[in-house]
Amino acid sequence: MTILDTYAQVAGEEVVTQLRQLAAPLKGKRIIHVNSTAVGGGVAEILSKLVPLMRELDLEVTWEVIKGDEDFFQCTKSMHNALQGNPVPISDQHLHHYGDVNADNADQLRDSLQTADYVFIHDPQPAALLSHMPHRQGKWIWRCHIDVSHPYRPVWKFLRHHIAPYDASIFSLAAFAQALPHPEYIIPPSIDPLSEKNLDLQAQEIQQMCDRYGIDTTRPWFIQVSRFDRFKDPVGVIRAYKLATKFLPSLQLVLAGGTADDDPEGAIVLAEVKEAAADDPDIHILALPPDANRTINALQRGADIVMQKSTREGFGLTVTEGMWKGKPVIGGNTGGIRLQVINHHTGFLVNTPEGAALRVRYLLSQPAKLIEMGQKAKEFVRENFLLTRQLREYLTLMVALMY
Ligand code: UDP
Repeated sequence: MTILDTYAQVAGEEVVTQLRQLAAPLKGKRIIHVNSTAVGGGVAEILSKLVPLMRELDLEVTWEVIKGDEDFFQCTKSMHNALQGNPVPISDQHLHHYGDVNADNADQLRDSLQTADYVFIHDPQPAALLSHMPHRQGKWIWRCHIDVSHPYRPVWKFLRHHIAPYDASIFSLAAFAQALPHPEYIIPPSIDPLSEKNLDLQAQEIQQMCDRYGIDTTRPWFIQVSRFDRFKDPVGVIRAYKLATKFLPSLQLVLAGGTADDDPEGAIVLAEVKEAAADDPDIHILALPPDANRTINALQRGADIVMQKSTREGFGLTVTEGMWKGKPVIGGNTGGIRLQVINHHTGFLVNTPEGAALRVRYLLSQPAKLIEMGQKAKEFVRENFLLTRQLREYLTLMVALMY
């Protein structure tokens, strides 16, 4: 069975048919993705899935990874932080080195980059490659995966000079973008339905996981999966739980997040969370290792409701993950959560712990409604936030840039 067949099974036949139709006019076109790492991080993960899929659609796709030394990656790390708003200057020496490393990589990749039909440059690290391609033929697209809406200006100015000559840019959310002198596209993130985090699981495995963490599946429970970060409002989640237990004494809460070992701020928030939970045996605070994908998958599937009560959020992948598992999501009324939680349809948008508690009570007292909203949530993700949709948008963009 091909990879596309497997996706057809989970995403729907029609989704794959549409991909084939969109890919047809692009047959024989040479497409290159360039980023700065082959493994680790969201971009490499997405490319490792997208590239084989594109090849199955008969597109000539290659994936190049630029090479750099420690200084270069230190510089691009600072650049990344500065672009996301950290006002720390980068020395001229470092910026020169950034240019030099891009020039070296341009020399290595020149033949293929200059003759490709479409070049996708991911994030700032390889963004200056275009400045070293005087005879480019194809369309160059800068794919920005980070939030550059409030950058440290001097660093953005430096990068913008390299990005302005591109044919198009892609941002993940409108709220993350910057004005540029070429067409800008918004392509939201997506989840891979075949990854460990999202693939379908047997009921038995879900039950075993709940047993392992002492969750009583004969009683109702909801979960929030997130880093221990104030913007995720874990203390507000506990408050919502406590308010709801006045009416639903058998309710349980699971807060699953990283161990926070490597994040001093996270450790403080975790301590606050533990204090707020006091010694309530029905609040399960789970410190999970970073690769606990299958555990998170099982817990999201086992829960009755998924919550993401953030007070500030980028896109909110945990919302997508919960919805894909057929759960209504009670989400903070902010950022990308608003793109996913369609109030009263795929879940509820809330502004306060009181609001969240009210929605928990409502859903748990209306089982038919809970199921109906969960199904709508899953369909909404199928339609809008699966990897296949992201590929569809890349194909559409390439077709649009042909003319
Ligand atoms: N996640 C995880 N372990 C944790 C906490 C979160 O694997 O302890 C995952 C979660 O399932 C999701 C991602 O990390 O895939 C978090 O993405 P999101 O957009 O929700 O929030 P961010 O952490 O990027 O602000």
